[in-house]
Amino acid sequence: MTNSICSNICDVMEILEKRGLNTGATGNISVKSEDAINITPSGLSPAELGPEKIVSISISGEYRGRWRPSSEWRIHTEIYKRYIGVGAVIHMHSPYATALSCHCIDVPAFHYMVGAIGGDNIRCAAYETFGTKKLSEVVVVALQERMACLMANHGMLAVGPDLSSALETAMLVEELSKQYLLSKTIGDPILISKQEMSVVVGKFQTYGSQNA
Ligand code: 13P
Ligand code: ZN
Repeated sequence: MTNSICSNICDVMEILEKRGLNTGATGNISVKSEDAINITPSGLSPAELGPEKIVSISISGEYRGRWRPSSEWRIHTEIYKRYIGVGAVIHMHSPYATALSCHCIDVPAFHYMVGAIGGDNIRCAAYETFGTKKLSEVVVVALQERMACLMANHGMLAVGPDLSSALETAMLVEELSKQYLLSKTIGDPILISKQEMSVVVGKFQTYGSQNA
């Protein structure tokens, strides 16, 4: 069980690099299992990774063995503590989301798909030094009722009940960031009203289900 989780984490790290969403050792991934949090080691690129290097940490960050967990382990553990339904966390320095994060702005409701993240915007967590408890605190706040957030002057983060849905959400945020940046090149886009966005968010509760 844990072994397949570890190889899935390595596969996704490789996918992110191949798609230009992370470069070298940037970004990190964790997946929660019954008794532990399985997280990428700190400072290794996907080429240097292997399932045996995925670190198993406790909810308070304790670990054993040769490999040190991601420097952002506090973000991952704080998210699992606060949001019970989360089973996987992906952090990326993907180009478009990171470019927006450097302006420290929330992505507004410029497109209805923003509603798929959980509300009428994608928040940007305030800037804090990487690898700190403070950064984990601002990220947890930015994630309230959301499946993703930007991280000021840093990148983005997405969560999901499992790794594949966290990946889907992470890629959606990158796509939306690209579209928002493009739309801004010819002025300020017309935003969707709060009222309409609550209709959209409601529709996403059942969208994609083939059960009547
Ligand atoms: P780690 O290699 O320690 O996970 O750090 C990468 C990163 O993106 C820090 O924010
Ligand atoms: Zn980072």
